[in-house]
Order: sequence, then C-alpha cells, then structure tokens
Amino acid sequence: MQLFERLIDHAEAVRLVLEETPRLSVEHVSLMDARGLALAENLRARFDSPPFDNSAVDGYAVRSVDAREAGRTFKVVDEAPAGRPARKEVGEGEAIKIFTGGVMPEGADAVVMVENTSGWGEEFELKKPTKAGNNLRRSGEDVREGDVMLRAGTEIGAPEIALAAAQGYGELPVYRRPKVVVLSTGTELVEPGTRDLRPGEIFDSNSFALLAQALEAGADARRMHAASDEAETLRAAMQEALTTADVVVTSGGVSVGEKDLVKGTLLDLGVEQIFWGVKLKPGKPVFFGAREDARFFGLPGNPVSAMVCFELFVRLALMRMTGREDVRRLRIQVYFDEDVENKFGRMHAMRVTLERTEKGWRAESVGAQGSGLVSSLTKADALALIGPESEGLQAGEPVEAIVLREEVLLGGGA
Ligand code: AMP
Ligand code: MG
Repeated sequence: MQLFERLIDHAEAVRLVLEETPRLSVEHVSLMDARGLALAENLRARFDSPPFDNSAVDGYAVRSVDAREAGRTFKVVDEAPAGRPARKEVGEGEAIKIFTGGVMPEGADAVVMVENTSGWGEEFELKKPTKAGNNLRRSGEDVREGDVMLRAGTEIGAPEIALAAAQGYGELPVYRRPKVVVLSTGTELVEPGTRDLRPGEIFDSNSFALLAQALEAGADARRMHAASDEAETLRAAMQEALTTADVVVTSGGVSVGEKDLVKGTLLDLGVEQIFWGVKLKPGKPVFFGAREDARFFGLPGNPVSAMVCFELFVRLALMRMTGREDVRRLRIQVYFDEDVENKFGRMHAMRVTLERTEKGWRAESVGAQGSGLVSSLTKADALALIGPESEGLQAGEPVEAIVLREEVLLGGGA
C-alpha cells in the first residue's frame, strides 16, 4: 500500500478544487427548476413594469382639479376593476370606480380612497381633498425595459422567481444542476433499517449524511448501497458511479490501510489524481481527482472527517460547477477563553459552539473531538479553523470559523 507522498495545506487544496472544477453547461429550465441554481446570464426586463399606470387602492379615479376641496359631489360614470379597463373617460365632476391594480382611466390623474368619500354608490361626496398623482402606481416604477434586473451568478430564490415571472419569463438560463452519486465503502457496513448488526458490523451513516449535504448544496444527488472492500465489488460500484455522475463522493477506504483500495481502483479506472492528503484534522487522507468532466472526492470513512471534508471541499466544487457567487459559507471571527493547543502540524477544523459576548463571538469546543463521534456534529454551531502555522491559539486571539448554523447568529448563541 502506498503512503502519502506529500500533504498539502488546506488553502492549497481549496485553490486546487476551485481551479480544477469546471462550470457545468448552461440549460434553460422552468422557473421552479431554477430554484437554488445560479443565473448563467444577466436577465433584462422585457418591458416597463408595471406595464400601465394603475390604482394602488380601492376608490374613485378623479381629476385632481375637481378634488381640491372636501364637500363636492361626484357622479360615477363607469368602473375599472383589475384586468378590465373602463370604457369611459373621466370628465369634469365625474369619477370612475376603481380597484387596486385597475388601469387608470383617461382623464383622471388621482385616486381617492373610498374611505375618504361617503362610500360606494352612483354618487359620492368627497370627504378629504386629493392631489394629482395620489394613490397611483406609475408604469415602469418597478423596473424599466432593458434594465438588468438580475445579474449572472445570482442564486434563484423566491424574490428572483417573482421578478422573472412578473416579466413573463417561463424559463431561466442556469448552470445545470450537478448530478452527485454518494457511495460508502467498507465490508463492515450494513444498510440501516434492514437487519440487526452482527459482531464487527456498523450501520452505514456516511452515505446518508453526505447525501443530505449534497442535497442541501442544491445537487441532484443519490446514494448507492455501500460497497464492500473486496476489489471486484468496489471496482464495479465505482465504475457505475463514475459513468453517471458529475461528482462522485465516496467514504472510507482512502487511507493507507491494506484494505484501502479506493485510490488504487480509481487510478485503474482512469481517474487522475489532483491531490491526496491534506494537512487537515479531521480529514487528512482526502483524495481529489478528475476523469474528463467528472470530479471524484474520496473522503475518509470516519463520519466526522467525511462530513467536514464535504463541507470544506465538495461543497466548494458544487458551488463552482453551478456558477454561484457565494462560494463560501458565512465566516466570522471567533475567540476562545482559554489557550487552544494544536500540536498536529495540520489545520484543525474544530467543532465548536458559539456564544455572543461583549468581546465578540466566543467559541468553545463541543467536547471530545474524535473523528468517529457522530454525535459531536449535532452539537456544533461552527468549525473553528485553527491553523497549523501556530502551535495553537492564545486566549482571546481571533480565529476564523465557518458557521454551520447561521440561526445561532440571530440569537445569543448556545
Ligand atoms: P476507513 O476510512 O475505511 O478506514 O474507515 C474509518 C472508520 O470509519 C472505520 O471505523 C469505519 O468503520 C468507519 N466508517 C467507514 N465508513 C463508514 C460509513 N459509511 N458509516 C459510518 N462509519 C463508517
Ligand atoms: Mg474502510
């Protein structure tokens, strides 16, 4: 079995993932299918919006010259509900009943709210004077024809869908959604919910965790049943994954043990190694490779390592493929109350809770940091990135953290 030739820094690994991951092709997809993807081109307004002057309230459209003083009586000559313009014009002393969104009739230049009149009827008395332009929504006040409404790279969420729909777009140009296949490897793995464990076995949790992370990052992701460490099974499973996916994510079998066949199998299948081994804890044996346009992440089997490596590398690749601008999660500065040791010579992505104090965000280790402790991740608000340069951190010294639960920033933290 091969040993690590050279471990690279976390920063270099990030750079390589971003540089070596291609954008996916551009597709025109229906509005709802674009949700969570990024626009591949600037989107321009096709027409002035709103397309016509219309009423902002329910009331009467009048000539403002007739409505300078309260007490005058108006004759109602027509009505203009939303979607059905009035046929008549507004003449002197006349009014047209109008509802929110109704087209402003010819002749009128203001709308009086019904609350400021004697009420609905054939005639009404004005209770409060009005001015030209009152309660009107002007054509083009939202967006103007030809304006760039949304820039390339913008992620499509509810407001963007609303704006595109308001402009009559049924489809949007986006970078296609990446297809991700998740595959756990390990002879000890049993599919949860199928049977009890025999001695030495454990349930496969990684493929579910990684699938959830891939879906959360907006991928079209699926998982395969775990493959054993037996060379032929492993090869067949990996071959299948590689032919159907833009990104294959495996867990396990990527370190230097005798049963760690993932890397060798990949190289056999024509995957070119971009890196193997990062100065990172947890996650040192992570592998990144390429075969044509497909990218391959071999993540370590320890559950925390697998999930942290997904967070640090796979997520970035998915963002890059889909052209999203926010390639990083929210990062903040945190500090610890006590000195923190780092004797590993590797960056420690430490699971921490966060608490707001007068000095900023105080981080505290969730407790034991073992890479097999699945429960520890459910307690973590953030990953504090404690660099390998230093021997660690001094109490109060600022350090960068990746926020995993943005909702803690809204409250006071843990
Ligand atoms: P490996 O990287 O294959 O040497 O695995 C490292 C550790 O992670 C071992 O204790 C494995 O049993 C465990 N492990 C590997 N794959 C999984 C998985 N899919 N789910 C949970 N634990 C796993
Ligand atoms: Mg294994």
